[in-house]
Amino acid sequence: MKAVVVGAGIAGLVAARQLGLAGWDVELFEKSAAPRPDGYMMDFFGPGVEAAERIGLYPRLAAVAYHVEAAEYVDAAGRPTSSLDYDRFARLAGGKVLSLLRPDMEQAALAALEDVPPGRVRVRYGAAVSRIRNDDDGGVRVTAGGHQDVTADVLIGADGVHSTVRSRVFGPEDGFLRPMGMRAAAFIVTEPVLNARFRNRFVLTDSINRMAGLYSLRSDEVAAFMVYRDATDTSGHQPSGSPRDRLRREFAGLGQAVDRLLELCPEHPYDDVVAQIVMPHWQRGRTVLVGDACGAVSLLAGQGGSLAIAGAALLGDILGPVTSPGGISPALTEFERRWRPLVEEAQAAGRRTAASFLPANRTQRLLRRWIIRATHLPGIDRLVARQIVGRIAK
Ligand SMILES: Cc1cc2nc3c(=O)[nH]c(=O)nc-3n(C[C@H](O)[C@H](O)[C@H](O)COP(=O)(O)OP(=O)(O)OC[C@H]3O[C@@H](n4cnc5c(N)ncnc54)[C@H](O)[C@@H]3O)c2cc1C
Repeated sequence: MKAVVVGAGIAGLVAARQLGLAGWDVELFEKSAAPRPDGYMMDFFGPGVEAAERIGLYPRLAAVAYHVEAAEYVDAAGRPTSSLDYDRFARLAGGKVLSLLRPDMEQAALAALEDVPPGRVRVRYGAAVSRIRNDDDGGVRVTAGGHQDVTADVLIGADGVHSTVRSRVFGPEDGFLRPMGMRAAAFIVTEPVLNARFRNRFVLTDSINRMAGLYSLRSDEVAAFMVYRDATDTSGHQPSGSPRDRLRREFAGLGQAVDRLLELCPEHPYDDVVAQIVMPHWQRGRTVLVGDACGAVSLLAGQGGSLAIAGAALLGDILGPVTSPGGISPALTEFERRWRPLVEEAQAAGRRTAASFLPANRTQRLLRRWIIRATHLPGIDRLVARQIVGRIAK
């Protein structure tokens, strides 16, 4: 059996590995020339942890995890206004929480392909998929830049929020993308002074309608992320102009540390709309979507990487044992039936978090401070955890 996977992000790499381990022949196309260095720190908890342990990926992730002691909100003078104890958060989220840099997570999933017998999974970087057709025998035919057309029994679209597979097979992006009224940017800079000052804690500005965050990495680097309200962006299309200039405008006046990050910001940082993807069906014929392509929860749910791993691992469990083309469609239906409820629950949790994640006024900011302080009270802590992480705390 043969599969084409589009997108070598976390979901695509895990799906390709699991199918390769099950004996499938897999062609994995990725439009970037190499693994993407764009990075920010992600909390990895919930279903992805269980899935990563089951498929043997967890030790690779744990090996590159950072130790975060606290998430600390600060005012423009750098004084703490509230803080979240990470060990407590880990307990509320069900025990295991890893703090991982997104590119490290992707590298771990890429390295794990060495568990598959040689030649079973071929990863092609610099290969953007542009055309998808149904083959005469019911399979799919895929055109990727610089390569001959490839035919396969199944096509897996793991190509993220702005998925090409989705737009070719299911319809235009506008029909499925739900912008959350914000944009997010992330970049990494070399800054030894800030690195030494902020070790082992997330530092977040306690600001209104915008938030800058930073975390010290190994070596002298600092990972920065910036989220800001942008209600005009209802389409998800990239706005015109330089993202760096826009960030410098949006984040002026948030204190010395943020000014320094903006000074060092690269010209083209990662910068995208914060959005969820909501679709009535994830499967059409022999094509299925996985990860952000069909069920992006947005950074507000804080579980995109976790769900990408868990969804791709489940797809591998269900599709892996299929040995004839006739079994593919029922397997894809079964995957969607079992996975959709979890994704929808995480999306709902993400929507609930919107106001506290980025307060729109002083009252909402006060409420967020109260919520964070309440995590220190027995009883209340579980309610807060449910608010933050949905069913995970159950
Ligand atoms: C600021 C920020 C903070 C976040 N924080 C967290 C967090 O705390 N915890 C968490 O779990 N998640 C977090 N996330 C979300 C997380 O990064 C994603 O949800 C997760 O990486 C989804 O993986 P994916 O593989 O589905 O998609 P992606 O990582 O988007 O990968 C898709 C891949 O497909 C490729 N591609 C696209 N089009 C084509 C094409 N036509 N042909 C070939 N290849 C193509 C892309 O280049 C890319 O490599 C955060 C996101 C942001 C923006």
